[in-house]
Amino acid sequence: MLFDFVIIGSGPAGSILAWRLAKLNFNIALVDQANSKKKIINDYFLPYVNKSPSHYNPVFSNRLGGNSVLWHSKVYLMSEKEFDTGEWPFNYEELSENSRELSKLLNIEKPVNLVKTEMDDKQNFYYHYSERCKFRNIFKFLKISKFSNISIFQDSSPIKINYGDEFNAKSVIIKNKKDANEIELEINKSLIFCAGGIGNPHLVLNLVPNVNHNVGKFLSDHPHINVAKINSKEFINYKKILKPNIKNNIKDIVGDEKDEEVAAVYKENNTLAGVQLDYKRDPMRLLRSFFLRIPSSLIRKFLNIFSFFITKLNGAIIKLGLVFGNYYQYSFEFFFSQSQEENNKVFLDDKAVDEFGLKKANINWDVSLKDQNNYNKILNTMVGNDGFLKNRNKKNEFIENFYKSGGAGLHPSCTTKMGFSELNSVVDKNLKINNTKNIFICGSSVFPINGITNPTWTIMTLANRLAKYLSTKG
Ligand SMILES: Cc1cc2nc3c(=O)[nH]c(=O)nc-3n(C[C@H](O)[C@H](O)[C@H](O)COP(=O)(O)OP(=O)(O)OC[C@H]3O[C@@H](n4cnc5c(N)ncnc54)[C@H](O)[C@@H]3O)c2cc1C
Repeated sequence: MLFDFVIIGSGPAGSILAWRLAKLNFNIALVDQANSKKKIINDYFLPYVNKSPSHYNPVFSNRLGGNSVLWHSKVYLMSEKEFDTGEWPFNYEELSENSRELSKLLNIEKPVNLVKTEMDDKQNFYYHYSERCKFRNIFKFLKISKFSNISIFQDSSPIKINYGDEFNAKSVIIKNKKDANEIELEINKSLIFCAGGIGNPHLVLNLVPNVNHNVGKFLSDHPHINVAKINSKEFINYKKILKPNIKNNIKDIVGDEKDEEVAAVYKENNTLAGVQLDYKRDPMRLLRSFFLRIPSSLIRKFLNIFSFFITKLNGAIIKLGLVFGNYYQYSFEFFFSQSQEENNKVFLDDKAVDEFGLKKANINWDVSLKDQNNYNKILNTMVGNDGFLKNRNKKNEFIENFYKSGGAGLHPSCTTKMGFSELNSVVDKNLKINNTKNIFICGSSVFPINGITNPTWTIMTLANRLAKYLSTKG
């Protein structure tokens, strides 16, 4: 079977890429290991991860659409201030231009408002506005299965790439986990990995032999914690720092701008902290932090079933909480950017293999002392003694709250970074893996830094940019 492009992964990166290229009449193979059997309850366990610290928990929807099946649909483009903390091999205007173009193509109502920033009166921090978008599962939203020129191979993973001269990928062998059937997909133009922040380095380390030493390193995420208590009287002081679901419940206080979400962003050295108000007691968060402390996968599976019902009941529980006054206790949720640490990494296990026979990945991840110090400084400047957001007679320690707050793992990034030079990157400015002729990567794994912004719109914007490049040069 011959295809112009073979795309691995049907999440936001792979779906946008397949959609853009299919509309240009290319012939696409879209391969995903997601289960074809209908599931009500998500698995959450990355099937190709062997070991990971208990405070680092990446999740997996096991459905076409990748983690957009689970996401909260908050649409932000990484801001210029965040972008400028990393070494991107192209400029911010190019990213914004691609974002505007994609929002028009997707018919998002207010494209220019996807993200806007403004300083607060005292110039302490800036506000970062965004909106919730109307789509959830991106694969369904784009109606990918209706395209006659996209062939979908579900339950399948690539297991081998056949190379020609100069690491030109000529074909890829995919294996179906249900019947162990192997198929060869011939590649007319390019192969693109869109397998997520952990999945991309996992595949590159398994399948691309002349890989350089940077693959898998610099794993970054958004560690987050909840601190302080805000009662309903104080709430009005912070009405500009909100999550939309809070706003919806207190329309009477803050007006009717239902879909806008606002974070305050503060910068200390090159570390960024986003701050929003969050419920003091969120049943899902409580469950998640409990979940993270349980090593047994059987008990975690049981908790997943329980969390399914909690999610369904969450709205009702919140309403009950509102009636009894509990949910009017809020806290500040801080989410931080991370500096680049070589030791935070995805690497292959010597022995354990996944259901396709590929070596499984192990994950090392923690928050460095340097970052902890910066986070503490930020916390104390914002909500400590003389804190400009809230003056509290308490010294804040990041680490004290971190393990209670649910850890990190939802936004893995920087594991196959893009850059100017092979010395410090895995892909070049066009997202092509260095030293290969036609193998590309798209996703947050190519971000040179992670910033604080939820990554998906930036990922989709990069997929839009890559589709244009591939359609002419790929
Ligand atoms: C609970 C939750 C809430 C979130 N909320 C938000 C939000 O509000 N806003 C936001 O911007 N982001 C949010 N995110 C993050 C968002 O979901 C991810 O950024 C986004 O899904 C990443 O897109 P992707 O296409 O790069 O990877 P993924 O969505 O991870 O898709 C990767 C795909 O590759 C497939 N794959 C992996 N390995 C292989 C293999 N070996 N063979 C074949 N296929 C493979 C997987 O099955 C998957 O379908 C959230 C995430 C979670 C978990």
